[in-house]
Amino acid sequence: MNFVRKNIAVMDGYVPGEQPRDRTYVKLNTNENPYPPTPRVLEALRHFDFTRLRLYPDPVFLKLRETAAKTYGLPGADWVLAGNGSDDLLTIAVRTFVDQGGKLAHPDPSYSLYPVLAGLQGATAVAVPLTADFALPEDAAALAGDATLFFIARPNAPTANSFPIDQMRKLCAEFRGIVWIDEAYADFAEDNCLALLREFPNVVVSRTFSKSFSLAGARLGLAFARPELIGEMMKVKDSYNVNMLTQLAGTAALEDVEHMRQTAARICITRTQVVGELQALGCTVCPSEANFLLVKPSRLPAEAVLKELRSRGFLVRWFNLPRVRDYLRITIGTEEEMAGFIAAMKEIVG
Ligand code: PMP
Repeated sequence: MNFVRKNIAVMDGYVPGEQPRDRTYVKLNTNENPYPPTPRVLEALRHFDFTRLRLYPDPVFLKLRETAAKTYGLPGADWVLAGNGSDDLLTIAVRTFVDQGGKLAHPDPSYSLYPVLAGLQGATAVAVPLTADFALPEDAAALAGDATLFFIARPNAPTANSFPIDQMRKLCAEFRGIVWIDEAYADFAEDNCLALLREFPNVVVSRTFSKSFSLAGARLGLAFARPELIGEMMKVKDSYNVNMLTQLAGTAALEDVEHMRQTAARICITRTQVVGELQALGCTVCPSEANFLLVKPSRLPAEAVLKELRSRGFLVRWFNLPRVRDYLRITIGTEEEMAGFIAAMKEIVG
């Protein structure tokens, strides 16, 4: 394999959650939304003149950015960047802010893509261990050392908990590099970090349309930061990284943000119910501010429960990683799906 860069040859690639080809499974494994997106998306796509597909999309997705700035109360479109999913934005982040041979920091456990992105860049990932109850350590900035980028998922994945805003503020003040707050799950949480954008020059907040907006298949993410940072990241991104149909769909979704909020609220109600039912079965459920739960099953090891659930038609996620091996990550589905899931759990661990 001499053709390949050494850091690529030695690394493992990121492994996405399973997308089964048949539809017989209840999918509780990749934190998708069980409800459809706003009908405004369909309407926008229906009115789209398909002959325009012969043209390139707007490389700077102005309409989408303007709509996003308005929706999120940002000063202007120049505070917004869009990506082909937020994973694309995370790649842009590493290529913009981390030298080859440099360092990026991330909490551990957290989103397993972060260290993979470091490997792709030929950089080192500095894992900052979360405490026993998955809290961010007080000295997180010191533990990140001289890393130039700190990815923090808030709420965190796969642990589902959030970190206090004051602690995030302290981190932004203490850390010398870019603090990238990955708010993929923020619409299911009590609060978010958008206010920190105006307080600190080194903060970026990213969002995804894959979870609360029910648009995982369209691939769209947004990053918010001061125009100086957005301008630098614009140089790094692929010229046409968000296609025409997705720009249209994303704009329509933002124009009906209330639909998303109602869907997210419904999922949070189901989440509360499922927590109670799992606890009644003796399972340990970590506090969640996301659209999924991290659950330590009673009676059986997590991997055995994973298999039992699969044989009953339910896909959930198990990470064979040191700190979370005893847990399953379970996406919150519809009320009906979760009733079926709980019935299966009763059979397995009840
Ligand atoms: N951040 C976190 C913490 C995630 O869990 C995910 C979903 N895998 C993403 C980012 C990426 O989401 P997407 O690329 O679909 O926007």
